[in-house]
Amino acid sequence: MTEVYYVKNVSQENFEKLLRNLDLSFVKPKDFVALKTHFGEDKCVTYISPKLYSPLVKILAEKECFPFYTDTNTIYVGKRANAVEHLKIASEHGFSLESLGIPVIIADGIKGNDYVEVEINLKHFVKAKIASNIYYSDALICLTHFKGHMLFGFGGSIKNLGMGCAARPAKFLLHNAMKPKFKVENCIGCGRCISYCPKKALKLDYEKKVIIFDSAKCVGCGECVHICDYKVFSIPWDLTYKEVQERTVECAYAVVKDKIGKVLYINFLMNVTQDCDCINKKQIPKITNIGIVAGYDPVAVDYCSLNLVNEVYGKDLFKEFWPKIDYLFQLDYAEEIGLGSKQYKIVEI
Ligand code: SF4
Ligand code: SF4
Repeated sequence: MTEVYYVKNVSQENFEKLLRNLDLSFVKPKDFVALKTHFGEDKCVTYISPKLYSPLVKILAEKECFPFYTDTNTIYVGKRANAVEHLKIASEHGFSLESLGIPVIIADGIKGNDYVEVEINLKHFVKAKIASNIYYSDALICLTHFKGHMLFGFGGSIKNLGMGCAARPAKFLLHNAMKPKFKVENCIGCGRCISYCPKKALKLDYEKKVIIFDSAKCVGCGECVHICDYKVFSIPWDLTYKEVQERTVECAYAVVKDKIGKVLYINFLMNVTQDCDCINKKQIPKITNIGIVAGYDPVAVDYCSLNLVNEVYGKDLFKEFWPKIDYLFQLDYAEEIGLGSKQYKIVEI
């Protein structure tokens, strides 16, 4: 049975107490340590504050390794869709070298197309496109705000790994968006998208002053969705939630496949909102502070977090948030492919 470590009440002191009780010997001097977090979308106020992470920064400094905060670019249009704007948001939300003493690096490059293909040979993916700077890190600490999610019911460590560490083309595939939807009537013929398409799938009809989309050449990288300001291209969000969960779990498997014994999962059970931190609005949390759950098995850490939240709430909060989503599906599939186990034992610190 997997041990899962738990400390009640989220605070810097309790986080340090938890960390001092964990085995962090997997972090070696000079290791590049990716601290995978979420900087929060522009108007989000419930992301995990960087101040809370200071005990971790202190302990990693003692280990003389090279930690960096990281996240990947989004596929939806927003302030985190390219590394330049993403870094600005991160800095505005307190994540910067100046304020934290460690740098922020966007893991999949300026345009989200810097990735490594990891062979997994699973049901949906033979290979998964994982953000380079996460793939090349020696160790990974997955720092997750545990909250609701419209496709997953809840968003925990598995989602942070699978969706959060995937490069943008992989995120398209997670949503089955092999190709964007195309609404030619919105096009004003500015031609801006053409140079961004890596496959020359876009060209301008100079007479009609509209873009011509060659669907056969398109590889679904998603660049045009971000570049065009006129909503000509959009993401077809038409997959069932179960398939999105399965695909994300497979990506999560790819992220940690070559990092056996080098990954730690930490879920912060605080400010539990209905939606994730990608939503660009202020959300009112249903629960403000429960505690921190940590361990070396993402399935056990997520399952334990889920049970703790529902226990404190007194009923199934995530079913209340998203009645049509079977959130256990992600955990069952993760177990099935060997990502971890739902059998856990709590060690309360
Ligand atoms: S699709 Fe968008 S970016 Fe491309 S030419 Fe038309 S309006 Fe411009
Ligand atoms: S999704 Fe990528 S490959 Fe397809 S048209 Fe858009 S930019 Fe080109």
